[in-house]
Amino acid sequence: MTQPADAEDRRAIPPVICYPTATLPRPDLALYRAALDGAEVTETHVAAPREAASFTVPAGHFFRIRSVEGPQVGDLNLWNANDISERFYSGKTRALHGTHVTTGERLWSSFPGFRPMATIVEDSLDWYGIDAYGSSVHDVIGTRCDPYTHNLLSGGQYHHCCHSNLTRALAQHLGMTTAEAEPHVHDVLNVFMCTGFTRDTGQYFMKASPVRPGDQLTFFSEIDLLGALSACPGGDCSAEHSSDAARCYPLEIDILAPAEGALQGWESPARSGYDGSHGM
Ligand SMILES: [Zn+2]
Repeated sequence: MTQPADAEDRRAIPPVICYPTATLPRPDLALYRAALDGAEVTETHVAAPREAASFTVPAGHFFRIRSVEGPQVGDLNLWNANDISERFYSGKTRALHGTHVTTGERLWSSFPGFRPMATIVEDSLDWYGIDAYGSSVHDVIGTRCDPYTHNLLSGGQYHHCCHSNLTRALAQHLGMTTAEAEPHVHDVLNVFMCTGFTRDTGQYFMKASPVRPGDQLTFFSEIDLLGALSACPGGDCSAEHSSDAARCYPLEIDILAPAEGALQGWESPARSGYDGSHGM
């Protein structure tokens, strides 16, 4: 490999943040937290090990993903409940907030809606930070375990990857076939998963999740949401996924309704202000 004479100078140029967040609209976390304090659980859904559960959350309500029984990571998909073509946009969420998300950060929707779908109001793993390997929890860098990549790398037919679990859950929820539902499944928020990129080779890695029973991640629903959560076949993702080898546990999802009048001044975010003409 040959290098230009000024290779080190070029490498030494400092980085510039692609999307400075100074102008990003800030959620009123104090208002959300006060509303959460007075909120009551209206429903609980269970994602069984190596399966997914679907749920709906009205705008202005909360949903809380809870670890129960044992360490387990979850793969979350979100759609606008009234128009599933608007769905969670992992890539742009990553561009705005970084590789992992925590309290005060938001899950953004696909174009052309492009607005906050949900805001994280509480994260019991926020103490974890970024560890010595550069890894952290709740990533928007992975995609979801899926039977296609599994088949490519290992052969075989495995039907309980998160991709398939989410596909079945969406199909059941909407009364579709799995062929109809599958194109709506998208890159996930990896709830409780501990991941990063290796420093030497830049490869995506996972390690045993620090999640323990009692840990929880709570979201404020900015728009009417349809969600699906898969209890990943990787369990705590300490060794492998896309198989029945790992110990797996359920995840629970609570839906919480705030008290009447608790969200005074809050409005569901409008769709993007871009006019959509693309210069034509
Ligand atoms: Zn998975």
